[in-house]
Amino acid sequence: MTEERWPGVELSAKEFYEKVTTVRFRPEAKFAWSAGEAMSRFLAELQRGRLIARTCDACKRTLFPPRMFCEECFRPTDAWTYVKDTGTIETFSISYLDLDAKRIKDPIYVGVVSVDGASPKMGLMHFFGGVTPETIRIGMRVKAVWKPPEEREGSVLDIRHWRPLREEER
Ligand SMILES: [Zn+2]
Repeated sequence: MTEERWPGVELSAKEFYEKVTTVRFRPEAKFAWSAGEAMSRFLAELQRGRLIARTCDACKRTLFPPRMFCEECFRPTDAWTYVKDTGTIETFSISYLDLDAKRIKDPIYVGVVSVDGASPKMGLMHFFGGVTPETIRIGMRVKAVWKPPEEREGSVLDIRHWRPLREEER
């Protein structure tokens, strides 16, 4: 006697790849993440339109963005203090690629701003606006352009960008 058909279910290559080697499911992924004491306060203050730092009594530095531990003194920092929303461009890049690496006509300006009131070498990475490739320069005095309060969400992007400081603001 010969078998007309083998037992089991025949699958095409398409069915094999779609039904056997692939599993479709929607994960119920939930997570919670604590930003920590210093970063949580920093983000909450951003939503209120303020920049906050931590001071260290031992080295007399003002640490910004704030941290609860002084990496130079190996001890906890001591107090909260506000710093200004003005500063100086430490370094910058002019990018003709957007975040998806697509070419763009009008460039994006990104870089590090050292904020007034914080100690040297305390930089905040951010965007610059109101500048051109010809006008932006290291050492340029800048001021934060805040989103309106109702649009802020406790993010570093509650500041849209940093624009050149006007003569009357100096
Ligand atoms: Zn210190």
